[in-house]
Amino acid sequence: MYNYYFDIAAIIVFVVLIAMILSKKHIIDSTFKILGNLAWIAFLATLLDLISIYLINNRMHTGLTVGVNVLFFMSHMVVTFLFLMYVVSQVEMSETRTVLRKVILYAPLAVCLVALILTPFYDIIFSYTSEKGYEAGPLHFLVYVIAVGYFIWAIAYSVKYRKYLNRFFITMIILVGIINVLGFVCEAIWPYLSMRSFVVSMSAVIMYFFEEQTCATIEHDTNLVGKEYLAEVGGRMIINNYPFSVILIKMSNFDALSDTFGHNNTNSLAKSIASHVGHKYRLGRCFRITEATIAVLNTDVDKTKDMTQQLYDELSDSWEIEGMDISCDILMTECTYPEDAVDFENITSIIRHFDKLERNAGGIIDIDELHINEQIRIKQVENAIERGLNNNSFEVYYQPIRSLKKDTFVTAEALIRLTDPELGPVSPAEFIPIAENNGTIVAIGNYVLETVCRFIADNDMEKLGLHYIELNLSVIQCLQKDFIENIESIVGKYDIDPKYLCLEVTETASNYSPAVFKQNLETLGERGYSLALDDFGTGYANIERMVTSNFRIIKFDKEMTQYSSSEERLQQVFEKLQNVVHSMDSQVVAEGVETKEQYDYLKEIGCDYIQGYYFSKPVPQDEFVDFIRANNV
Ligand code: C2E
Ligand code: MG
Ligand code: MG
Repeated sequence: MYNYYFDIAAIIVFVVLIAMILSKKHIIDSTFKILGNLAWIAFLATLLDLISIYLINNRMHTGLTVGVNVLFFMSHMVVTFLFLMYVVSQVEMSETRTVLRKVILYAPLAVCLVALILTPFYDIIFSYTSEKGYEAGPLHFLVYVIAVGYFIWAIAYSVKYRKYLNRFFITMIILVGIINVLGFVCEAIWPYLSMRSFVVSMSAVIMYFFEEQTCATIEHDTNLVGKEYLAEVGGRMIINNYPFSVILIKMSNFDALSDTFGHNNTNSLAKSIASHVGHKYRLGRCFRITEATIAVLNTDVDKTKDMTQQLYDELSDSWEIEGMDISCDILMTECTYPEDAVDFENITSIIRHFDKLERNAGGIIDIDELHINEQIRIKQVENAIERGLNNNSFEVYYQPIRSLKKDTFVTAEALIRLTDPELGPVSPAEFIPIAENNGTIVAIGNYVLETVCRFIADNDMEKLGLHYIELNLSVIQCLQKDFIENIESIVGKYDIDPKYLCLEVTETASNYSPAVFKQNLETLGERGYSLALDDFGTGYANIERMVTSNFRIIKFDKEMTQYSSSEERLQQVFEKLQNVVHSMDSQVVAEGVETKEQYDYLKEIGCDYIQGYYFSKPVPQDEFVDFIRANNV
């Protein structure tokens, strides 16, 4: 006798689940739709299972029992198939599915369904008579093999594409896998328990909670979905190499209208515009990015230009706010995958920059105007910095600096280097400003300071003839609240005398917050660090600042060095400035010395130190130590 308690429990679970799914009509994910169908059909399978148990237990009418069992098997097969489709649809899209792919997916199900339809006539899968009861047929194994096959396929698919699947999904699949295996084991031990449907119902509940966490909901008044869903759909298209375009629409006078008509009125106008677009295109293809910006995802790439123009004409018409007709400045652009973007991050940055673009007038602009390549490069460099910090792939190189009075190398400048596995070598001139913008400069600065301190601690500076090492501080570092404590803690860790460090700053630092900057430099000076003013002569050379701050060294920028050695008028400026520096008891480092002429000229005018390719490029630490050993004795 079969036990039906688990089936009753499953029926209750399904009723509640289907009610919950029906209450979520505004969810538009295709995967949620598959889950809905799965729940319905599994509910039907359970009902049929119950009826079948009743009929078999009571040895009822043969034809009816066979029919019910056939339907039960069929619905059960469809459920396993839908489970696979549910998993596959997390990555694939129905648009991109080839005929062959469809055949591979549907064929086992089709074979099984045909075998089941023929079963009442040929007893292929099973036979049933009230005398003999239920008996397995020659192809009985088929239903199990295909059902288990679909299930294993789904699990294997999630493992294969795990990098495209999110954490929730993986957890969900693991839970569903465990429950099904447990159910299978239980049924093997206690076959009369009939737990199949209950296991399916519990799996569906777990899937439902996963969907609820991640699915896109539609905004009632506009028919639009959120931007997260754009990332999901667009991301899926990119995984499948499916071309598409994104049309971006922005109310560029949103802020101005808000000032005049109030934020609420302007937002409802934005909603009217969004709703106009939302009702024009397929559900789930229009996205609200921000209050003022919407995106339309279009798979008919050839029509993008026409669609953009048509939308622009429609939306640039006058709209009503508070009974007044006003015109809206509609700004639009479009981008296409794969022409304008290689991954979804590119598209995200196009959207972000379009959204931020300040323009008072409307119009259709080319995405080139967003300078997206530069933005993409910035993003790539940001990623490279992140990787560099995580994988310790930054390095510190040293460029020797020669004293012209002593004719030896008395110091060196520490210069950071980054070689990224994807981008190759990235120049500090490029990544330092980016790191300054996103705040990672603090970690980079700490790394350089730490490496230099370790170098000083590990080497006998006196023996090498080195007085100190110069290192660059960024503006952003100098303005941090815990700037001094931070430096002191790193230097303290290596127990180094601050006299071995010379900190280079650029004068732009003082433009941000002159008082803080000055105070910090004074404190450093008091604690025994030397200070150098870097790149003097570039930008706005502020003589006053040079004179009033306690810089031990002023580094004349390489352009100044290079022009002065060849141009007479500049030579006079160079020499006069050098005199000013000397009169303050400071010394000059001429940067960028590349030729013998430059060297001779600087020696002749009594320059203190020179740094440049003429002697050495910046080199790795070991090479630098070898260089110093070879040249300083
Ligand atoms: P900087 O501090 O003025 O460094 C001197 C730059 O001139 C270095 O470029 C150096 O390689 C280059 N240089 C030296 N001699 C010559 C020469 O004879 N000819 C020419 N054409 N160039 C020469 P690098 O290493 O690319 O660094 C560029 C800038 O990046 C640095 O300019 C500095 O502002 C910044 N930087 C480098 N490392 C760090 C660091 O660790 N922290 C911070 N905050 N900034 C750094
Ligand atoms: Mg420097
Ligand atoms: Mg410099």
